[in-house]
Formats: sequence, structure tokens, C-alpha cells
Amino acid sequence: MKKQHQIVIISGGTAGIMTATQLLKKNNHLDIAIIDPADTHYYQPAWTLVGAGAYDYDNNARSMASLIPKKASWIKDFVTSFNADENTLDTKNSGQIGYKFLVVAPGLVMDPSLIEGLPEAMEKGIVCSNYTDPKHTWETIKNWFASSGIQVDSELVFSFVAEEKIAPLFKALRAFNESLEDASPIHAVVVPIEQSL
Ligand SMILES: Cc1cc2nc3c(=O)[nH]c(=O)nc-3n(C[C@H](O)[C@H](O)[C@H](O)COP(=O)(O)OP(=O)(O)OC[C@H]3O[C@@H](n4cnc5c(N)ncnc54)[C@H](O)[C@@H]3O)c2cc1C
Repeated sequence: MKKQHQIVIISGGTAGIMTATQLLKKNNHLDIAIIDPADTHYYQPAWTLVGAGAYDYDNNARSMASLIPKKASWIKDFVTSFNADENTLDTKNSGQIGYKFLVVAPGLVMDPSLIEGLPEAMEKGIVCSNYTDPKHTWETIKNWFASSGIQVDSELVFSFVAEEKIAPLFKALRAFNESLEDASPIHAVVVPIEQSL
């Protein structure tokens, strides 16, 4: 027999947990199930600091169990498909789950391979992204500085955290390293087409 919940939320990311918490704040009798297979929740905005060597990656990891609201049920599973006409969804191991209301917030998956040459450039250590791996960003920045004989002091970087974004952080580092003057950070932002017209 399929399980049934009043509200089903995919997933236990920031959006899913916030939605469940806010709904339960309004009415703590709601029957809410959160579906997420992950054991660990990461506070992603802190990855900017990880990429600049100013914060430890493991410090912003929390166990999923400690963050799921006590009044919500956690279904530790992966959603595989939707049956919108029947108000049900399928999971990898827990079978079919029914809902009255469904919140879908499974986050984003970064796929560098969609841009030709990008994975190779990342592997070479000349391109990095906080959105794919902030630890790799910090390794890449450290290597740039090491190759010019300068030691990077992450305490120093931290004192320069202005907008807490990697471009200004890199710029601040470069101010202490004349040999990197020809490395120009470019802040490139993708905007929706209608905004760019
Ligand atoms: C480097 C960096 C810096 C950032 N800085 C800022 C900032 O300064 N300010 C700001 O507001 N935002 C910032 N963000 C953005 C913000 O962190 C994200 O938008 C936010 O964490 C996304 O939350 P989410 O719940 O949508 O997804 P996530 O937190 O990614 O959670 C997605 C969850 O969905 C689960 N999931 C995926 N597929 C399934 C499935 N099929 N079935 C069940 N579960 C599934 C995953 O296991 C995961 O737990 C930053 C992000 C990054 C990476």
C-alpha cells in the first residue's frame, strides 16, 4: 500500500528545510514528509569562504537528521519520477508516495562537461569554480601563488572579505603579489536574456 502525506517536500536542502520549518511554524499539526537521500546538508554560501581558504569545508556540514524539523517525517530516499495526475511520486526504495500538496526543490546539478574544454581546463588547475568544488578553488589559488613564490595567509584573506565573493577575495590577495598583476579577475555574470536586452 502506498504511503500518503498531506505535504511532501523534495528535498532536505536549504529550500526544503526552510519551507517545512515555516509551514510547521504556522501549523504544527501538518503532516509533512521530506524526501532526501543525503546524510549531510551543506551551507553552500560558506563555500565562497572555503574557496578563499578562509573557512574549513567540513565546518559547514551538518547531519541531515539534525536539521529536519522534528515534526516532519524524513524519507531517506531518492525521487525517481512523478505521476502528477494521481498526486503520487515514485522513489528508488520506498515505493510510491502520495501527497495532497507537493513542493519540488531538488537544487541544481553543475555539469561542466556541457561546455567544451571546461572539464580539461579545470583538471589542469587553470580554471576553478566554487559552484563545483570550493576546495579545488582554494588549491588552484594557492598553486597560482606558490608558483610565484608567495605564501598565502588565509587570515589575511579573511580580513579582506568585503562582499564575501571570490572575485574581490582574489583581488585582495593579488594586491599583495605584484607578480600576479597581469592576472586580471573578470567578474562575469550570466543574466536572463530579457534582462540583457
Ligand atoms: C559558492 C556558493 C555561494 C553562494 N552564496 C550565496 C549567497 O551569498 N547568498 C545566497 O542567498 N545564496 C548563495 N548561494 C546559493 C544558495 O546556497 C543555494 O541557492 C541554496 O543552497 C540552494 O538550496 P536548495 O535547497 O535549492 O538546494 P540544495 O541545498 O542544493 O539542496 C538540494 C537537495 O536536493 C536533494 N535531491 C536532489 N535530487 C533529489 C531527488 N531526486 N530526490 C530527493 N532529493 C533530491 C539533494 O540531496 C540535496 O540535499 C551560494 C551557492 C554557492 C554554491
